[in-house]
Amino acid sequence: MKNCPGCGAVIQEDAAFCEYCGVAVKQRSKTGGEGGASPWPVEGTWSSAQEKTSGASFPQARLKKVGPLIMLFFTLLTFFLYPVVWLFLRLRTLNSMSEKTRIHPVVSGLFACTAVALAVILNGDSLIGPAVPQQAVDTAISYVFMAYVILSTVITFTLRRILREYAAGADKSPLAANIVARSEVFAFLFQFLYIQHHINLLIDAGLVERTN
Ligand SMILES: [Zn+2]
Repeated sequence: MKNCPGCGAVIQEDAAFCEYCGVAVKQRSKTGGEGGASPWPVEGTWSSAQEKTSGASFPQARLKKVGPLIMLFFTLLTFFLYPVVWLFLRLRTLNSMSEKTRIHPVVSGLFACTAVALAVILNGDSLIGPAVPQQAVDTAISYVFMAYVILSTVITFTLRRILREYAAGADKSPLAANIVARSEVFAFLFQFLYIQHHINLLIDAGLVERTN
């Protein structure tokens, strides 16, 4: 037994996350803790999906740590192009993290298209010239932005599922998957920023290897 660095509660030795406050816990050793069921009550209907794959060792994935505020800054600075760059730099790794879930190439491709279109329209005055009436520009912006948000949301929730499945395979306790990216509201509101935050948590917990 050890104590959570976040709230001080007593947690299991090999837990990657605190069950009480959700903070990522640094892992000291990967051995032991296999015998016996979890001592804490588990809410919900999680147990069925807890089939362990053959002795896989973690971390299996290597990802960068990025601060969500930095991501927000670059997203606004690049007229919403940055999330596409973020995604495509990690797409192969993210798609390899779950055997069941992956981002469909059509979805990521369309997302890139809407992002480019949005960047072009938002800079319309300098690129297209003032010949196009403002009302047409505004209409185009709203439609393209809507498509962008829909695709971004689809990708965010796919990534959320990938992280949860990865955490479930990486950590012995079923709590990991429930703690990683658990909020659908936050996922919708903060999109890739929320996903990156949980990638950072997985890195802190030693379940994802950090790259630079
Ligand atoms: Zn805690």
